[in-house]
Amino acid sequence: MNPNIAQKLARPAIIALKPYSSAREEFTGNEGIFMDANESPYNKPWNRYPDPFQQNLRQRIAEMKGVRKDNIILGNGSDETIDMLFRTFCEPGQDKVLSIIPTYGMYKVSADINGVGYETVLLNDDFSLPVDAILEKADERTKMLFLCSPNNPTGNRFADEDMKRVLENFPGLVVVDEAYVDFSTGGSWVKALDKYPNLVVLQTLSKAWGLAAIRLGMAFASEAIISLMMKVKPPYNVNTLSQQKALKALVEPEATLRRVAEINNERERLRTEMASLPFVKEVLPSDSNFFLLRVDDADALYNSLTTKGVIVRNRSREPLCEGCLRISVGTPAQNNYLLDCLRNINSEEERPAASWNALADWLVYPGRTAIRERKTKETEIRIELNLEGNGKADINTGLGFYDHMLEQIARHSGCDLTIQVNGDLEVDEHHTLEDTAIALGEAFNEALGNKMGIERYGFALPMDDCAAMVLLDFGGRPELVWKAKFKREKIGELPTEMFEHFFKSFAIGARANLYIKAKGKNEHHKIEAIFKALARAIRMAIKREEGADFLPSTKGML
Ligand SMILES: *Cc1c(COP(=O)(O)O)cnc(C)c1O
Repeated sequence: MNPNIAQKLARPAIIALKPYSSAREEFTGNEGIFMDANESPYNKPWNRYPDPFQQNLRQRIAEMKGVRKDNIILGNGSDETIDMLFRTFCEPGQDKVLSIIPTYGMYKVSADINGVGYETVLLNDDFSLPVDAILEKADERTKMLFLCSPNNPTGNRFADEDMKRVLENFPGLVVVDEAYVDFSTGGSWVKALDKYPNLVVLQTLSKAWGLAAIRLGMAFASEAIISLMMKVKPPYNVNTLSQQKALKALVEPEATLRRVAEINNERERLRTEMASLPFVKEVLPSDSNFFLLRVDDADALYNSLTTKGVIVRNRSREPLCEGCLRISVGTPAQNNYLLDCLRNINSEEERPAASWNALADWLVYPGRTAIRERKTKETEIRIELNLEGNGKADINTGLGFYDHMLEQIARHSGCDLTIQVNGDLEVDEHHTLEDTAIALGEAFNEALGNKMGIERYGFALPMDDCAAMVLLDFGGRPELVWKAKFKREKIGELPTEMFEHFFKSFAIGARANLYIKAKGKNEHHKIEAIFKALARAIRMAIKREEGADFLPSTKGML
């Protein structure tokens, strides 16, 4: 293979191109008073242009992939690196590229946009690579071959021997799109870069890394290829937020690795379960986070899943994919929901569209809601709690002042809370107050579930004319420290001596540690401030960092 293949294939205009030189290229130090890029001097650090060469991020990627930094170029998604390849190597109106069918749609779109011919070769019936047909079709104007492996939408990875034959004999660049390689046991072609000067490997953070929103794609190739692409890429194509977020994910890859393993397990579970459904003809094997399901009537199945709130991709009109739906693997709970839908596909039950997003969220993070029922001789209680609510309250304990206090918990914690109590109020308030407090605490404990990713601690500071402080830890040890005195005997219909009792019962039910201190003249305000401060403390403590699935304890359990 010709080691100068990059120079041979590239567009003459790009070889001759003198690229744009940014301020950050002309002065590369990172200390000084920067007055060279017409940026705003305010609003640090967002006032500054991003690192045009993403040095830290590329360094990290180089370490992870076992390549040199000069073998890497980053794009605003792989879609941008695909476009850069066209603009670097294909002369509009003259050159062409080759790909397989069925495959990812973006290669053709990019070819069309760039005025480059696009030719395809049909995969073999078993989705394997038709090597001879590919090599026959290439001529001196064929600059690139796009091979997606594992392939989208078929899910399979192409055999190494077939790939080698193509790499050794194809006259242009061989672009291997490895968007799904993290789900495959076969490994990456990145390791073969030194052996094949015509190899370009594409990867992305959009799939296994769960970062489709930040748009980060990677291309790996020889230094000769990368340095030509660097001339073409827009100077600041990857923004600072995306660089930071990507670096953080790549420095802490544990969560991603865990999720990839879970998705692979779930994929095989789904495939096994689906194989036994009466209308299923075939569940195709996959090296990816999706697979093809071949059924009797793909359109009908697609529509009935949609009415049940599950959206899959109908690929039945693609060559070799007759009758096929493409299903992306979800969380275990989402997959259970899908299986449930498929087993009961003929039932007419529809779900109201408004609840679908809530359902989808709940299936990702089950356990953020609780329904608690508690029945004793003296009381009958039903509590519904949603930690991801908007502070909506619907509370009826039969004790007006108590309702008012419990409403504060919902409103100021941001939780939705419904409480219905039927208590023996004709005897006294004691049972209603105590049993409700325990049940409410238990509802919080249940809704916090495995407590993955929660803040755990909360605290709140003085409010109103009274000073109330509530410190809270959902750490599993029920405990109350109570430092509040009341002079009046009753507020509303509630005996003030019962307040301490409420918080004690709540702490027991929630398995929480509570420290409460309050001072002030107005007794009504004082207790209201305590309830509000508790609500604020709850709001902080239940907060879950987006995507976090760690336990906030060094002991490994709460
Ligand atoms: C999803 C996907 C990509 C990802 O593209 P980005 O622009 O990085 O989000 C690339 N190639 C294939 C085959 C894909 O399916």
